[in-house]
Amino acid sequence: MIKRLTLLLALTIYSGAVQGAELAALHRAAASITASELQGHVDVLADDSFEGRESGSRGGRAAGMYLLKQLEQRGLRGGGDDAGFFQSFGEGYRNVLGFLEGSDPELKRQIVVVGAHYDHVGYGTRRNSYGPFGYVHNGADDNASGTAGILETVDACLAMPAPPKRSILFAFWDGEEKGLIGSKHWVENPTTDLANVAFVINVDMIGRMQNRQLDIFGSRTAAGLRRLVSEVNYGSNLELKFNWELKANSDHHSFISHDIPALMFHTGLHGDYHRPSDDAHKVNAEGMELASRLLFGVAYEVADRDDLGSFRSVARSETPTVQQQLEQPLPALPPRFGVRWFSDDQGPGLLIAHVERGTAAERAGLLVNDRLIEFAGKKVMDQDQFRQDVLFAESHVEMVVVRGANEERAELAVDLDGKPTRLGIAWREDAGEPGTVIVTRIVSGSPGRAAGLQVGDRIYAVGNQPFTVGRDLYDKFTTLPSPIELTIERKGRMTSVSLEIPPPRG
Ligand SMILES: [Zn+2]
Repeated sequence: MIKRLTLLLALTIYSGAVQGAELAALHRAAASITASELQGHVDVLADDSFEGRESGSRGGRAAGMYLLKQLEQRGLRGGGDDAGFFQSFGEGYRNVLGFLEGSDPELKRQIVVVGAHYDHVGYGTRRNSYGPFGYVHNGADDNASGTAGILETVDACLAMPAPPKRSILFAFWDGEEKGLIGSKHWVENPTTDLANVAFVINVDMIGRMQNRQLDIFGSRTAAGLRRLVSEVNYGSNLELKFNWELKANSDHHSFISHDIPALMFHTGLHGDYHRPSDDAHKVNAEGMELASRLLFGVAYEVADRDDLGSFRSVARSETPTVQQQLEQPLPALPPRFGVRWFSDDQGPGLLIAHVERGTAAERAGLLVNDRLIEFAGKKVMDQDQFRQDVLFAESHVEMVVVRGANEERAELAVDLDGKPTRLGIAWREDAGEPGTVIVTRIVSGSPGRAAGLQVGDRIYAVGNQPFTVGRDLYDKFTTLPSPIELTIERKGRMTSVSLEIPPPRG
């Protein structure tokens, strides 16, 4: 049986540290992020009056002024040059930066950068537009949507009873469309000590969500990020696509190239990408709300949790191909026994309908129309129980069948294939996600299959208890009483499954 995690269960797993009152505050703060406010920011930023927000242009500078006012109104401190909000560079380009000081006396020295680029391509040229050129490219999705998401995240952070332990630098990058030059300029001329930057969250295009799907890049750049994002996602229930590709396609890359872990949120490319038709009325405001609430939850969690992993340089070589290999299912196991029976037969035992070639059952001399009445010293009464007995049994098993018109009893011995298994599942560990495993095989007829577990599911807890390595998980599987509750994540969604294991008979 599969069910949505209840809030209560989520509470017990949510980073293990978030307590009831804080969780309620997080919910309230997330709920302050609304589709209409997000749409309002997009409507302003993607208005023709901003002329496509090209860096250094009249419209681009006007957009910078809008963001400056927004940050000032919210009472943030300037995070730019000379305690102001701007960091100027290039030909009239400006990053807009606001600073929220952390609440922990030690950890506040560390900084989480939460940002989005606010520039776009102006009127478009052959170099930066798919055309037609010469018209205002409003960039509603790219990236008024991400800019709006950051503004709303600022509000949600300020709605919390206290800031997170670490400080947050909210960043609106200029010059992204000219080659990430705003974020590159910042890492080369940081307005705070770069060594204190512990983490980066980048939002680029969250305005075109479809089917509640969201792409997450960068989850391999520190250990446990997939789990972190998924656990926060229990409130939004988005389908998360963790994409391992690390490309210089947006501002998070400027930080990854300085060995700083980073995540990027993105709802995907579309036909209006870098065209004049990327307009405000086409964004999915409800989708922005979902993405921005998750963004806030992740940003707050990253900034507030005690332990934040350091940069995993191996992430650079963990390509989507490596991901495929890691998540690849194991081939199905051959059956241990190898028979089918008439399921509507009234018994006694099981009336054999088919003996598969090359299986243990064939080697044992079992025949079609045999009635299997004893297996491993026990009467065969129930199909489910029999399946379970086959999975549990040691290799060598004695059987009794009733055969032929005279119903003669025959005693047969069988050497079952494979090893005995209790749950019928196999799994693989993932060095990037310690304390979790990926389900790689589910034996048919097993409790794992009956529970609705799927290949590719990630197991995060057993009986509400975390585990450290696969061996630890194995011990729990062999000792915990039935039913065994598994906390699993499937495509970023937290669920639980309950494995019913018939007790071994005898
Ligand atoms: Zn962009």
